[in-house]
Amino acid sequence: MQHVFNFWQNIERRLCSAKRILLLLDFDGTLIPIAKRPEEAKLPSEMEGILKFLARKKRFEVAIISGRSLSDLKQKIKIRNIIYVGNHGLEMERKGKKFIYPQASKSIPTMKELKKILKARLSSIKGTIVEDKIVGIAVHYRTVKNSDVPELKRRVRQIFRPFMEKKEIKIGHGKKMLEARPPIMWDKGKVASMLVDSFKRDKPLSFYLGDDKTDEDAFSALDGKGITVFVGKPGKSKANFFLKNVGEVGIFLKRLSAF
Ligand SMILES: [Mg+2]
Repeated sequence: MQHVFNFWQNIERRLCSAKRILLLLDFDGTLIPIAKRPEEAKLPSEMEGILKFLARKKRFEVAIISGRSLSDLKQKIKIRNIIYVGNHGLEMERKGKKFIYPQASKSIPTMKELKKILKARLSSIKGTIVEDKIVGIAVHYRTVKNSDVPELKRRVRQIFRPFMEKKEIKIGHGKKMLEARPPIMWDKGKVASMLVDSFKRDKPLSFYLGDDKTDEDAFSALDGKGITVFVGKPGKSKANFFLKNVGEVGIFLKRLSAF
């Protein structure tokens, strides 16, 4: 895996000739450092400025693709003229129009039920955060004592199991997080691919930047269709390139804004 900046001349050439440039960006860990508690995450004003600038450019199309719920994501970003994708692709807002993946809304009652059980059974483990994402429910354990994590995971799996057996949910994993999602074959990869295809007429130069396991679906899906960038220490990721951290993502976006 190569560092993006070592390959810059080649990318620069492609940026010059591209009619449209499509930027697909994960949020937490990509545009902002991972916060201790998800609600504490805040987009730094410098990053916000670069994104606003890019979103206003005619050649650029910016989409933020996150595991957060759409309403949460919109509260955190507040930039006009970008595409917001929440819940790993299950929710989207594009040009002021909201979409929810049709089968996802069927899962709302299940998620409500799960939320009650999780809150009751996990309240004794200090630091656990149960996040209601409407079409999903996440358990964050970043602020749980290390020695309590195995017990927490055991309880969560035990709670999820009957729902999984009835095929009412599937389990997702993220950084210090476990979540129940609707049992639908739809992920960041599928939604990224769909977005790229929706601009096919313009033969866009597409980039996807992400730092987590769920972004790997997009790295695979965009293989041959776009430039994929893993944010973090290069390891087993399927992305073509890497950037070391959020700071380097900022430098990268700033470089793009010259085109
Ligand atoms: Mg992330």
